[in-house]
Amino acid sequence: MCQEVGHAVQLALSRRGLLKAGAGASLAAVSLMLGGAPLAAGAASTGSARGDDGKQYDTRLILLGTAGGPAWFPGSNRRGIASALRVGESTYMVDCGDGAAGQLARALMNDSDQPQTFALLEPLRALFFTHLHSDHVVDYNNLLLQGWTAGLGRRQPLEVLGPGPRGELPPVFQVPGRPAKEPPAVFPEAPTPGTVQMTDGIFRAFATDLNDRIRDYLWPDLRGLVQVRDIALPTIPGFVTPNQTPAPHMAPFEVWSDANVRVTATLVAHAPVFPSFAFRFDSAEGSVVFSGDTAPCDNLVRLARDADVLVHEVIDAAWVDRLFPPPFDEAIDALKHHLLSAHTSIEDAGRVAERAGAKTLVLSHVIPHNLGDDRLKLAGRHYSGRVVPGHDLDTIGVGRRRAA
Ligand SMILES: [Zn+2]
Ligand SMILES: [Zn+2]
Repeated sequence: MCQEVGHAVQLALSRRGLLKAGAGASLAAVSLMLGGAPLAAGAASTGSARGDDGKQYDTRLILLGTAGGPAWFPGSNRRGIASALRVGESTYMVDCGDGAAGQLARALMNDSDQPQTFALLEPLRALFFTHLHSDHVVDYNNLLLQGWTAGLGRRQPLEVLGPGPRGELPPVFQVPGRPAKEPPAVFPEAPTPGTVQMTDGIFRAFATDLNDRIRDYLWPDLRGLVQVRDIALPTIPGFVTPNQTPAPHMAPFEVWSDANVRVTATLVAHAPVFPSFAFRFDSAEGSVVFSGDTAPCDNLVRLARDADVLVHEVIDAAWVDRLFPPPFDEAIDALKHHLLSAHTSIEDAGRVAERAGAKTLVLSHVIPHNLGDDRLKLAGRHYSGRVVPGHDLDTIGVGRRRAA
């Protein structure tokens, strides 16, 4: 989840005097910050597949995890953010939050006529990372290591595409009236690695396991089952540096294609994160757009023009208000603005979908995790299409039903 939420946690901890109470109390407060209070009756999702019968569609979206934020939500049926798009026999994955690898295996098991435990991931063709916040990538090592026994890369190497290195450290959060204190950088020799470096780091961290299984089981080298690429940005007029223009106005650009889909991307407004992408998948049956994490963003509206399905992140602005009840000082006032400036409120998600002319709006990356469907449906106030409050393992059909 986002850096600004990290600041929110710190400020809330200070505010509640919990910093002195030790790690246990701190973690409890973090959970509270992300919506970890006991669930209201009826607030939890069923966790079961709902809506369209996915198998009736050649192209179908499966929500693997619908929670936003770097935390576990044990009282909830939501796992970390991740989605899958199935087109015919191929599967494309977007983001890989907490629990995503197991959710993908579960989804492919449910979605297959003859599932085989050791071949579940054979259809997985490509994985796309919107950005490298931990809540979008934390299960990546799990997908790779456990996918090794589930057919990952067996038909052809799994292609992984994501942001390249940021190139410069983000600015230190400015609390009004206080001088910013520059913290020491983590690994200053490479403080903002991209997707290729991140993957290499995972392989290095698990070298003991890789060498063991390659030698003892005679398994193929896992590294050869994966092809990883940092997404190269086109030349963008007006772009200066990530710290000045993290989401410059730009046209969508193609990042990948195969016989089933053409994938285009754009930069979205999730400052200070850079690059932070939204993706659009166009197939013969229709189009599905994933917003990634973003504030309302013209680049996204352009990318999502007339899309069949827009999967959009959402944060409950009223929850943010409740989190910091008045009286609040200037710092919290600034922080509230910051929290809301890098994400999209429920009603604004509807406005974005309306501007784009998207036919169906699926709400995911839900913050807080225990947000009820009634509140999520408020997106329909400013949107004339279909609103789907997303829940884990929901399937949404795209295009025509298959002939009976
Ligand atoms: Zn996120
Ligand atoms: Zn994020």
